[in-house]
Amino acid sequence: MEALIPVINKLQDVFNTVGSDVIQLPQIVVVGTQSSGKSSVLESLVGRDLLPRGTGVVTRRPLILQLVHVSSDDRRKTSGDENDLNSWKNPMHFSKGVEADEWGKFLHTKNKIYTDFDEIRQEIENETERISGNNKGISSEPIHLKIFSPNVVNLTLVDLPGMTKVPVGDQPKDIEIQIRELILRYISNPNSIILAVTAANTDMATSEALKIARESDPDGRRTLAVITKLDLMDAGTDAMDVLLGRVIPVKLGIIGVVNRSQLDINNKKIVADSIRDEYGFLQKKYPSLATRNGTKYLARTLNRLLMHHIRDCLPELKTRINVLAAQYQTLLNSYGEPVEDKSATLLQLITKFATEYCNTIEGTAKYIETSELCGGARICYIFHETFGRTLESVDPLGGLTTIDVLTAIRNATGPRPALFVPEVSFELLVKRQVKRLEEPSLRCVELVHEEMQRIIQHCSNYSTQELLRFPKLHDAIVEVVTSLLRKRLPVTNEMVHNLVAIELAYINTKHPDFADACGLINNNIEEQRRNRISRDLPPPAASRDKPPKASGPLASASLEPSSAETDGKAAPGSSTGDGLPDAGTGNWRGMMKAKGEEASVEEKNKAPPAFPASPLRGHAVNLLDVPVPVARKLSAREQRDCEVIERLIKSYFLIVRKNIQDSVPKAVMHFLVNHVKDTLQSELVGQLYKSLLLEDLLTESEDMAQRRNEAADMLKALQRASQIIAEIRETHLW
Ligand code: GDP
Ligand code: MG
Repeated sequence: MEALIPVINKLQDVFNTVGSDVIQLPQIVVVGTQSSGKSSVLESLVGRDLLPRGTGVVTRRPLILQLVHVSSDDRRKTSGDENDLNSWKNPMHFSKGVEADEWGKFLHTKNKIYTDFDEIRQEIENETERISGNNKGISSEPIHLKIFSPNVVNLTLVDLPGMTKVPVGDQPKDIEIQIRELILRYISNPNSIILAVTAANTDMATSEALKIARESDPDGRRTLAVITKLDLMDAGTDAMDVLLGRVIPVKLGIIGVVNRSQLDINNKKIVADSIRDEYGFLQKKYPSLATRNGTKYLARTLNRLLMHHIRDCLPELKTRINVLAAQYQTLLNSYGEPVEDKSATLLQLITKFATEYCNTIEGTAKYIETSELCGGARICYIFHETFGRTLESVDPLGGLTTIDVLTAIRNATGPRPALFVPEVSFELLVKRQVKRLEEPSLRCVELVHEEMQRIIQHCSNYSTQELLRFPKLHDAIVEVVTSLLRKRLPVTNEMVHNLVAIELAYINTKHPDFADACGLINNNIEEQRRNRISRDLPPPAASRDKPPKASGPLASASLEPSSAETDGKAAPGSSTGDGLPDAGTGNWRGMMKAKGEEASVEEKNKAPPAFPASPLRGHAVNLLDVPVPVARKLSAREQRDCEVIERLIKSYFLIVRKNIQDSVPKAVMHFLVNHVKDTLQSELVGQLYKSLLLEDLLTESEDMAQRRNEAADMLKALQRASQIIAEIRETHLW
């Protein structure tokens, strides 16, 4: 029957080795008021004098006492783990140099063996004073003591300071609360069995011990009542009613004991004698109850309770061990195996990183983020949302005032008053606008570059976790990819710059989309002009112009009025058959000026441009002559010229913007993204896969090796514990 308990103690040893308190093992805790005889009860159970006892506050720190049964012949083996064995063999630890049947060990004195139990008691007192002082102070820090003996059953016992009401000595004002909390901390552990100690010469109905026990064990499923000092009852009274549970019933039982009195202690009465006398006393005083009371019966009861308790706890214990073991196994797996073939490992890690990097860009990575966009999707976002939107928000005429346009027109004509809207001014202005596309394009490259940089981090964090084991390799890979990206940056920037430069190099007014727009504009303007002329002015020479075609390419739309004009005006030079704008004169032939308006231009030219216009002539009063928010009023012609230029700029700009919006992402993909994707693997291998670097790169971070060992140890201990539990269950003790 007692076979179970060594197993539990073994289990506890297992966890003591790994310093883990994750699993709570059953233990017996004594509670009661001060001097009710708690320490004495424990001592009787141990069967040896070892605990400080006495009147007043004696026990001032929790004492966790683990009793380990050893049979006389196997004590060397059973003394526990290897440490025990070694220390046992070390003669330095023997007091008086003889082998003892019983011995004790403290956690705080490591491997020192105590064979003299007076010395043990002294050590408890010293250790109590060390932490709690020598003036009745209390500490919650426990003392751990193991007793190895052939005379004990396997139990873990906890001796606690007694409940008290009035602070004495160094005790704080709230000593009552502090001790209560300390006690509750131990007995609230569902794995504890509570020994509620009450002296027989006090009223059991007011037992503080049972009261506090009930607080954490209301069902009384793990509370056992112990009545001490049966010998000290008033003459004429006995504890029959109490022991039979007639005063307060206690589910698990009420056991009366007789411990040694203070006089016995002073006379150094040994436990064996005390137990014999106790038996005699019970036989005499309570013959009917003698077999169900006394220290021996208490020990057996406890043992049985403990076993039942353990049995109840086993399934949960086992589950917890298994869960923990699984957790540590996972942890251990994540640390990976120690490297054997370094060269292969390096190549494998490099390849894995490169693959993951590419996969993250392609969107085929194993670890797909769901919380935010990453990798290739972000690049897509940059192209179409960030870059696309930015381009779309660029105003074709942004940064260009009507005055700017006007000034450009005038400047383009030089000293001569302009007859036509000069083509040069359109080119000049449209280039200026197109140039504005370069900055957002370069910014797009930068953003993608940043994203590519971010992917490195993403890969090493999520996908290639093994890499974290080798910080140097990780850094080296990051370095190589970063420098590869950095190397591609100027090339890509150059290309994007060129894309804009290409657009600037040749303003293709023959572009089909542009010609369309141009035709429409001409149409529109001609119409407006005709309207105005027919209303306000006698028909000028230009009014004889054939109406331009309803829609058509720029050339045909512009050519016709222009050829009509050539008759009466200073003709533009060569007009080629295909209707190309004449490069020689730089005039925009389609944008003919109405004769009647020439004068006003000349007049305006004289006036400082920034001044408000002089009072308008009659001819200027027309529909188009709306005030504009510039420094001065424009003449109708100026107004119209500006409008023409602006519309053309806008139309042409939109064409170019579309090109840029289309070609920049392509360039970035080709020169940066795809290039890096394609060369990453060979770049990494080329720079890192060198036998000279091997050792260095594959150095594990120190704490990684340590963590792996710790996890492995923990796992081993857990597996051993699991195995022990399996053994217990197989024995079918109950
Ligand atoms: P604790 O404060 O609850 O740990 O009580 P102790 O074990 O230190 O005992 C207090 C005093 O009561 C000591 O002097 C013991 O000798 C005495 N004592 C304890 N139990 C008994 C008993 O059953 N009979 C007699 N006569 N004295 C006892
Ligand atoms: Mg005590």
